Amino acid sequence: MLGSAFVSSVLYHAHPQLGIQRSFPSLFQRGNIRTRVDSPWGVRSRGRSLASRFFESENRAFCSMMSQGNTSEVKDWRGLTEEEWKARLTPKQFEVARKGGTERPFTGEYWDNKKPGVYRCVCCGTPLFSSETKFDSGTGWPSYWAPLSKDVVQERLDLSHGMMRTEVLCATCDAHLGHVFPDGPMPTGKRYCMNSYSLTFEPK
Ligand SMILES: [Zn+2]
Repeated sequence: MLGSAFVSSVLYHAHPQLGIQRSFPSLFQRGNIRTRVDSPWGVRSRGRSLASRFFESENRAFCSMMSQGNTSEVKDWRGLTEEEWKARLTPKQFEVARKGGTERPFTGEYWDNKKPGVYRCVCCGTPLFSSETKFDSGTGWPSYWAPLSKDVVQERLDLSHGMMRTEVLCATCDAHLGHVFPDGPMPTGKRYCMNSYSLTFEPK
């Protein structure tokens, strides 16, 4: 059962995502979610306060649910239709993460974010990158020299726009995240050039 598998947290975003609430009305009944806000990432109290904030201003705030453990046990993310993704994401998030778009440099939310924390997939909530591997690439996109682990992302040859690049996708839901280039800093020498719209940030 979907509801019983979702246990974790409610995260505040900068854009309305009430589609999630509409998609899982039973999970968002008052009194239900609070018992489920129990983060495995050590932000229990923060999660509780954010959940409260959500319920106090449902029309302005919104949230995303994070699953604990294997998200594929919870939901077949690859089985979601375009309409379902549109209901979950803002138009820009949909364009970038589901349609392979690219945000303009120096315009995204995270290219200059230096706070400690974890960056998650905007679509499925999987933790993808840590602030500890983020570096200032000067490109105007959030850049990392490694993902949190090798298996959270997948790579694919991208021959579009007359270039040969390596696309990086979320291994859980196939969200387009960005590209990886071989000109990053040590210790990996890689530059994971990501789109802010494909990510959410969870401060430590
Ligand atoms: Zn994902």
